[in-house]
Amino acid sequence: MKPTFTLGRVAGISIGVHWSVLVMMLLVTEIVAVAILPVQAPTTSAAVDWVAGVLAAVTFLASLLAHELAHAVVARRYGMPADRITLWLLGGFTELGTNPPTPRAAFLVAGAGPATSLVLGAAFGGLAAGAALLSLPIVLREVLTWLGFVNAVLGIFNLLPGAPLDGGRLLQAGLWKRSGDRDRAAVSAARAGRFLGMALIALGVFQLVAGQLVSGLWLALIGWFLVMSAMSEESVTGLRGRLTGVRLRDVMSPAPVTAPSWWTVDTFLERVAEHDHHRTFPVVDMEGRPVRVLSLTDLVRVPEQTRGTTKLADLGRPLRPDGTAGPEDLLTELPAGTWQLSGRGMLLVVEGGHVVGIVNTHDVNRAVELARLGHLPRAGDGSSGEEPSQAGQSGQPGRSRPPGQEGQSTPSPYVPGQRPGG
Ligand SMILES: [Zn+2]
Repeated sequence: MKPTFTLGRVAGISIGVHWSVLVMMLLVTEIVAVAILPVQAPTTSAAVDWVAGVLAAVTFLASLLAHELAHAVVARRYGMPADRITLWLLGGFTELGTNPPTPRAAFLVAGAGPATSLVLGAAFGGLAAGAALLSLPIVLREVLTWLGFVNAVLGIFNLLPGAPLDGGRLLQAGLWKRSGDRDRAAVSAARAGRFLGMALIALGVFQLVAGQLVSGLWLALIGWFLVMSAMSEESVTGLRGRLTGVRLRDVMSPAPVTAPSWWTVDTFLERVAEHDHHRTFPVVDMEGRPVRVLSLTDLVRVPEQTRGTTKLADLGRPLRPDGTAGPEDLLTELPAGTWQLSGRGMLLVVEGGHVVGIVNTHDVNRAVELARLGHLPRAGDGSSGEEPSQAGQSGQPGRSRPPGQEGQSTPSPYVPGQRPGG
């Protein structure tokens, strides 16, 4: 789920919003302004009801954000990147980036969200009681009561024991602690999530039949989302288990062709691009250290008359800190975005300051397919069977897959790193 726009940053965490959150806001506004206030506070005008509805929806969204922030802040305390939160139709999710290091960390990260929601529920409930004592307007009291109620529901619902709900993560942490096997615990929690999802769908259908259209559809939708997430988590975890112990050295295309930063576009086109089969290249400085990543698309943008003078150092994009890894790093321990690789093109494998290999979608897909066949990629057979480059350098650089082929065999990004907040 990519956010449609970013609201800003809180404590270094990027807060994104998906357009579908508007549907949720409309629904919440409508519930408060049409279903609750006219009944509980019949003396107030419709205009006041709608304003109160909008304020309730905004406060509810802030409560959801607090739930997600709690996950993210605890995750960061345990060294996980957790740098993006996205709010959408069914709640929010925090991308943890990596898996929790210990069962204890997993437990605390998962528990922080529902705990925050329950505390908020109690706080809003307390405020509502205070508003009643002080004889404040009944609309205010009703909105506070509703906010207390939904936060409590949010906390309790998310405690249901099935991944990817927080309760499923708590279960997973407990099983992990008891058995010492993280992947087996993840599969069990995902299975529980699948059954929970199916139960919610059944409940939703029952409500639909009973004439409760909106809540029935809502439950069924959440159930369907749970089933889908849990199934994808099960298969990713299964693959992760099979790829255990595979290091980047085993999957990388070794000794890739590199592009010297001081070369001009023309030189590069003649000496490398014409002969090499690849589309993306690491750009290295005089000392052979990687500094940028260059793709043929970047070269297309250079006007033909300046190709003889434009240096590669001014093209492509700077190397990001998470764009490199070491040859001994485990494939399954890479941060989610790196493991996914799509969009980024490739990961540079760097040793002693030099590029010793490239891992791209092709290489990850190959490892996954081999694992499905019951085999593992091993160092030394990293060749993708392509023609050696004629640029005087040996080896087989990696190649980005054309879009459209992606996702067929690449597992989805670590679903365990994403948690819907319901
Ligand atoms: Zn949560």
